[in-house]
Amino acid sequence: MAASLGAKYAQEAGERRVAPGAEAVAGLAKFRERFPEGPTDPRCVVEMLDEVGSPATVASTGGRYFGFVIGGTLPAAMAANWLAGTWGQNVALRVMSPVAAELEDVVLGWICDALALPADCEGGFVTCATAANFSALAAARSALLAREGWNAEEDGLFGAPPIDVIVGEEYHASMQKALSMVGFGKNRVTRVPTDAQGRMRWDRLPKISARSVVCIQAGNVNTGAFDPAEEICKRAKEAGAWVHVDGAFGLWARVSPKYDELTRGLESADSWATDAHKWPNVGYDSGVVLVRDGMALKGAMGMSAAYLHAGALREPMHHVPDSSRRARGVELWAAMKSLGRSGLRDLIERTCEFAKLFAERLREAGYEILNDVVINQALVSFGSAEKTQEVIRRVQEEGTCWCGGTVWQGKTAMRISVSSWATTREDIKKSAEAVVAIARAI
Ligand SMILES: *Cc1c(COP(=O)(O)O)cnc(C)c1O
Repeated sequence: MAASLGAKYAQEAGERRVAPGAEAVAGLAKFRERFPEGPTDPRCVVEMLDEVGSPATVASTGGRYFGFVIGGTLPAAMAANWLAGTWGQNVALRVMSPVAAELEDVVLGWICDALALPADCEGGFVTCATAANFSALAAARSALLAREGWNAEEDGLFGAPPIDVIVGEEYHASMQKALSMVGFGKNRVTRVPTDAQGRMRWDRLPKISARSVVCIQAGNVNTGAFDPAEEICKRAKEAGAWVHVDGAFGLWARVSPKYDELTRGLESADSWATDAHKWPNVGYDSGVVLVRDGMALKGAMGMSAAYLHAGALREPMHHVPDSSRRARGVELWAAMKSLGRSGLRDLIERTCEFAKLFAERLREAGYEILNDVVINQALVSFGSAEKTQEVIRRVQEEGTCWCGGTVWQGKTAMRISVSSWATTREDIKKSAEAVVAIARAI
């Protein structure tokens, strides 16, 4: 029953209004019951979930959701999630799930191959890019302090030699959180000025040393812009610093030679954080951390106890903050297996082309595109901040598509992020028409 309800939902997601209507949201009140005194038939539980829950979802798996950077879910990934759900595997240790551990090994290799990163990187599967940024920074902390003769894991950070952190002015809030969690502090960072697209100006880099962590961005969440990795990595390497890449979605542009100019040099970094749940269209939650020096990652993330005896092969829990967790690598494997190199490249190129098309339609209608649409992100202004905000509000309410808002370098804008495998040219045309009609009516 759950499978057929799920299949029906998946089929209809592209047809329905994107944001749920007020009635469906109000219907959620039916969930507000007291904790039941006794059991309910599992069938009825799932039925209620579908009746009350399904209408109040956001149809982000359809083709006309352009908010944040939210991809859909590829059919193979969705189906693998259903099957793997019945497996109920815990992938902390290999002995708990040989299949899940094996698929993680395979997929790590495939990711390094697809993204042209060093083949011997070690990595882990985490919930999201924030957790991946955190894990990579913990590895950086461990490695840089070890070089100074300080053991961060054993002795903590009080009294440790200071590490300086360098970021671009437009770095993502996720990096701020990761820096604070890892003990580097949000206020201790040196912010490098950025240009109009949000790219770090490498000619304005401060002095970099062997105790520096330089955090660069591959894909700005507003503009899609890339920090100039080649120049930054070159300088950082000369100084013996650690370079970390926040490439939550943008890193995947490396699958296509079309974006070589944007992504050049990223392979020279020391660690990378990315999401499979964004551009590669794997379901939530699916972040990936990759680290060139595997010992640094394991040093920061390893855990020991007699009953957690690890074998000679890769043990998943020693590469990530979690121990017990679901086998999310299975879905990533299914997505990559079903797409192959050409399918993945096509997904990335197609969504970029659609972002350009969407922006072009709005520009033709007389509205201002605030960024160079280099990948799958576009920013639109409809005039004043008030008018732009009103357009966004009405677009969300009208339901043909969904776009969010932002403020880019002082200017209020609507964000368009084309990240779903399910988006068609028709979806773009229909959405652009709806947005233009709404904007004209104000
Ligand atoms: C989305 C995003 C993040 C955060 O990703 P989560 O998976 O939500 O933690 C970090 N950095 C960039 C550039 C992003 O686009």
